[in-house]
Amino acid sequence: MDTKRSGGREAALAALPALLLPWYDKNKRDLPWRQDTDPYRVWVSEIMLQQTRVEAAKEHYVRFLRALPTVEDLAACPEDKLLKLWEGLGYYSRARNLQKAAKIVAAEGFPSTAEGWRKLSGIGDYTAGAIASIAFGQPTPAVDGNVIRVLSRLLGDDRPPEALKSSLFAELAPAYPQARCGDFTQSLMELGATVCTPASPLCLTCPLFELCRTRSDALPLPRRKQERKRSELTVLLFVRGGEAALCRRQSGVLRGMYGFFCIEQAMDAAGVQAFLRGAGMRSFALGERRAHRHVFTHLEWEMTAYVVLSEEDAAALQNSSAAADDAAAANQTAAAASAAGEAAAAKQSAPAHTDFAALQYFPVERIEREISLPSAFRWCLPLLRRAAGAARN
Ligand code: SF4
Repeated sequence: MDTKRSGGREAALAALPALLLPWYDKNKRDLPWRQDTDPYRVWVSEIMLQQTRVEAAKEHYVRFLRALPTVEDLAACPEDKLLKLWEGLGYYSRARNLQKAAKIVAAEGFPSTAEGWRKLSGIGDYTAGAIASIAFGQPTPAVDGNVIRVLSRLLGDDRPPEALKSSLFAELAPAYPQARCGDFTQSLMELGATVCTPASPLCLTCPLFELCRTRSDALPLPRRKQERKRSELTVLLFVRGGEAALCRRQSGVLRGMYGFFCIEQAMDAAGVQAFLRGAGMRSFALGERRAHRHVFTHLEWEMTAYVVLSEEDAAALQNSSAAADDAAAANQTAAAASAAGEAAAAKQSAPAHTDFAALQYFPVERIEREISLPSAFRWCLPLLRRAAGAARN
């Protein structure tokens, strides 16, 4: 399969524009970021697409640009508003980096070369190549997983994707057609997204069929899957006067984002009660409990959330029949828990996150509407809605 020394490799890459561009003109999807080649718009779309599927990014892209139509608007946007606009896309560091870079661009102007773009926060080789070719018509390849897949199959190159990536950056540049650099970049991406897909590529309809050495999904060779790290978290959903408590995460995953109060260990109801008493809380009752698994790319959180009600809210909740069963069940579990469990929980060293003063209370409707809450925590909102609603009625 290896054509690395076959001499046909250069010719195969040189033949790409003539095969791909007519196919692209006919088959490209109508995507909102393909309306023009304004560098700000191209840049925002490329950052959004880094870890988000095209379908999921479309709506966010339109909403984002309606709210922040220029790089100056983005540079001046308050962080909370920015994160709310980014909600649903995940990987919030992308939004922060985008704004950090926007402040520089708003002051100094847009870079016009891939090198200039690479100096900005959140922009690597792929994104720099994509922006420079699409927005500035430069022959700068943008080699991501899609393009590596297409070209490894086309060339029959079975080297690991990391090795292939750096060689393709250099090899692809001379194949770029002067007049249509941006379209060439996009045609490769488009083929990878719609025809040369990871599984079951549509080889019979592919414009590269005659040239292709593989004509199947045999390449790239599968990588050994990395094991995800697993962590257990107990999430405490404090409810007081019909409002729910958020706190900013101080470290680790989702640092700087709003979340709920977390203890980085699994606890049963008895353990939670012992923990709260140990932390100085005297007057509370446990409400509804729910377990949930949240999967990040390299990490899994096994989460168990408990609603923690103030005494007054607990009394109000007792009148709400649906929630009362849950509350009673949780408290029964607590009562039935073994003394050994309590003792063990009490002995556990207090987690770093015991600063109740850092809790900020908000109406649940406001959390849902205005505050950017990562999806790792959004599943808790129905519990809060029920508890806060019952407490208010
Ligand atoms: S022929 Fe098949 S494997 Fe080759 S580039 Fe086209 S879709 Fe991919």
